[in-house]
Amino acid sequence: MQTWPTVVIPAIPGRGQSLSIHDTVAGAEPVPVTGHDGQVSIYVCGITPYDATHLGHAATYVTFDVIGRVLRDAGLRVRYVQNVTDVDEPLLQRAVRDGVDWRDLAEAETALFREDMTALAVLPPDELVGVVESIDLIAAAVQRLVTDGVTYALPVEDSAGEDIYLDLASVPGFGEVSSWSREQMDAVIVERGGDPNRPGKRDPLDPLLWRAERPGEPSWSAAGLAPGRPGWHIECTAIAADRLGLPIDIQGGGSDLVFPHHEMSAAQATAAGAEFAAAYVHQEMVGLHGHKMSKSKGNLVLVSRLRADGVSPMAIRLLLLAHRYDAPWDYTEDAMAAATTRLERWREGLSVNEGPSAEPVIAAIRETLANGLDTPHALRLVDAWVEQAVRGEPGDPAAPGLLARTIDALLGVRV
Ligand code: ZN
Repeated sequence: MQTWPTVVIPAIPGRGQSLSIHDTVAGAEPVPVTGHDGQVSIYVCGITPYDATHLGHAATYVTFDVIGRVLRDAGLRVRYVQNVTDVDEPLLQRAVRDGVDWRDLAEAETALFREDMTALAVLPPDELVGVVESIDLIAAAVQRLVTDGVTYALPVEDSAGEDIYLDLASVPGFGEVSSWSREQMDAVIVERGGDPNRPGKRDPLDPLLWRAERPGEPSWSAAGLAPGRPGWHIECTAIAADRLGLPIDIQGGGSDLVFPHHEMSAAQATAAGAEFAAAYVHQEMVGLHGHKMSKSKGNLVLVSRLRADGVSPMAIRLLLLAHRYDAPWDYTEDAMAAATTRLERWREGLSVNEGPSAEPVIAAIRETLANGLDTPHALRLVDAWVEQAVRGEPGDPAAPGLLARTIDALLGVRV
């Protein structure tokens, strides 16, 4: 589907260091992202378009945007694919509740998402891939698992069709993405879209691959399967494999996707005989008043609402970058105001006629981003230069412009 407009990355002299980042599977120590043949493939799980983009989403996409910028600065090519889950339970339920066609709802919310991403200067993915436009390839992936004998079917009441599940007992290494205990998995599976109590399941955690047609729900016939629609996890496995090839170098998303979504995405690839991803990178949750920001809780701070209230998108970006991606944080109005103040201060500092040499600051920003993507520290490095410049310290007339281009290139902040 249509993505959003290209964002130009200004050229800056020199080259950044290679990126090391926290991989959920590898543990605490950052691991180097090397890619293959000079290219890094990144697949980031996209939105389910039934409500507007909140700060938790924005944090995820800005984090992977910065990862892409740092990798490019180190001389690597980046191939980035993101999906849109444009048919799914919550979307269908919201459409029924609001009395609108689910396709119109998905289209409108996806359009708003593109607007938010454009405002935040997020680099567009090489491909934004909808599930509806990918039904054939997803169904083919399900059919291959059926042929491989790693699935089973359960009858559906009042329907001629059958639901198809992956048999996790056939998947070696299940659980290695999250390293969660069975108790942890059981505790969240229902709230995260699983159906452990479905009678007949071999393992309550077995993921749904194909949901047989139900009255009033959209369905498709593809790949020799009875009419139905794909389960959530297989969509990403199939789209990532089709567009990027397996293993992908980085599977990304919010930390609430570690289990079951990324665990199951990997399990389905393993069941088909492939490794899914070399590394798993997760944006931690953004909260409000101590609770994770989520549609189901209704405690959302929307990017579009902040913009409508006159907050600069670049201040929103600075707010996000002021927090490490791998630690949870809470939104506050004070923090939003501080980010706006910081943006104004940067504008002041970067519009002087001359300032202290930019080269040491640029080298330090490159280093701190490459070593675990420490964006808060990168911002503080800019702060320190800005304060010197505002004080009128003499120096290099080229420095303000060079630093402004660096901030744009590496952090995506346009002052
Ligand atoms: Zn996904």
